[in-house]
Amino acid sequence: MIKTKSDIPHLLGYTCTICGTHYPYEKEMLTCPKCGETGILDIDYDYDIIGKNISRESLKNDPDNSMWRYKALMPLEDREYTSFLRVGWTPLYKSLRLGDELGLKGLYLKDDGLNPTASLKDRASGVAVAKALELGYDTISCSSTGNAASSCAGNAARMGLNTVIFVPERAPQGKLAQMLIFGARVVSVIGDYRETFNLSKAAIAKYGWYNRNAGINPVMAEGKKTVSLEIAEQLNFEPTDWVAVSVGDGCTIAGVYLGFRDLYELGMIDRVPRILGVQSTGCSPFVDAARDNAPLKPTPENTLADSISVGVPRNPVKALRAVSASKGAWVAVPDEDILDAMREMGQKEGVFGEPSGVTSYAGVKAAVASGIIRPDETVTCICSGSGLKDVVNALKAAGDPIRCKPDLEELEKTDLFK
Ligand SMILES: *Cc1c(COP(=O)(O)O)cnc(C)c1O
Ligand SMILES: [Zn+2]
Repeated sequence: MIKTKSDIPHLLGYTCTICGTHYPYEKEMLTCPKCGETGILDIDYDYDIIGKNISRESLKNDPDNSMWRYKALMPLEDREYTSFLRVGWTPLYKSLRLGDELGLKGLYLKDDGLNPTASLKDRASGVAVAKALELGYDTISCSSTGNAASSCAGNAARMGLNTVIFVPERAPQGKLAQMLIFGARVVSVIGDYRETFNLSKAAIAKYGWYNRNAGINPVMAEGKKTVSLEIAEQLNFEPTDWVAVSVGDGCTIAGVYLGFRDLYELGMIDRVPRILGVQSTGCSPFVDAARDNAPLKPTPENTLADSISVGVPRNPVKALRAVSASKGAWVAVPDEDILDAMREMGQKEGVFGEPSGVTSYAGVKAAVASGIIRPDETVTCICSGSGLKDVVNALKAAGDPIRCKPDLEELEKTDLFK
């Protein structure tokens, strides 16, 4: 690779994921000029420089309990991030029951619903806000099925940036309430996610805002990769055999791979876990394409897991690579299984995820049942968003409470002890 100078010493430049052209580092580059909008870029790092700034030992002594403990691995100028919202360093729980029920050697749950705006998207939004400030923008914008938008709004509010959000009409109330409370200007688009995305793209181009669209902006997956850096560090740099993640646009799974790849390049782990990409059967363009060994086709968006209801994913190349390069697998699960997963994770582990957050676990169950994951293997399941985001579906999964008059005799007539 040609090394070029940049004002961020550990950044070499960009490589197009489609045509492979290498570009020297420029402050802001979103997609490949030759390939256009589908020419998603990879960010290239100088691991020799990074290796001088971060190691297992340096991390052991780093008191920072946020994703900024990994700033040496981010595409940003070196500065303090202590005033930002505290994103990351979410708990990695060893499963106490579900892993045994599945007959697995080990199961871990990474609860990313415990981020400041309650989803994994905070990892990307934190980095996006940092980048927007670094580049001197005063407004940041994105289109989103909900979580990217609410996290963008929250992280931007903290740092004093304006936010303009485009959401499809169907965005759940919890997420909408978050964006509005964080002071974003919210445009609810009468249409599906594809139409929402296209309107945001046109508006961002016209008004010159910072573009937080995850499919297009290569910086987003670099923020999301911190989930893998944490999983590895929390497991003493011996990650599980598999890591399962729910997939919509494909940026999250791309980031999951990038984090492990970075650690592998730095010699901090000795293998990259196999990555399980999970979608709903109601909207599964990645699973379909992998099964048919064909390019992605636009699909309808028929799932209650709204965060992964993406019929035209914007980050197909990096997402497919995450699974192929890690020798992973793709699986789809029906919405009923997603609701079951929501209830089981809540009841048996005390982790409350939104439908898209627990789809990963439903996928692990399916992969164990079909023999993709073997009993002698270990798995980390990323729970990517909190269940409080979507109370309507939580109640659908959990059922109704027992109704009773305020009287002990009446209580005994109920189903309470049945
Ligand atoms: C966005 C999101 C995903 C999927 O991420 P993509 O980058 O769209 O693939 C999964 N779960 C939750 C909770 C999300 O908000
Ligand atoms: Zn290109």
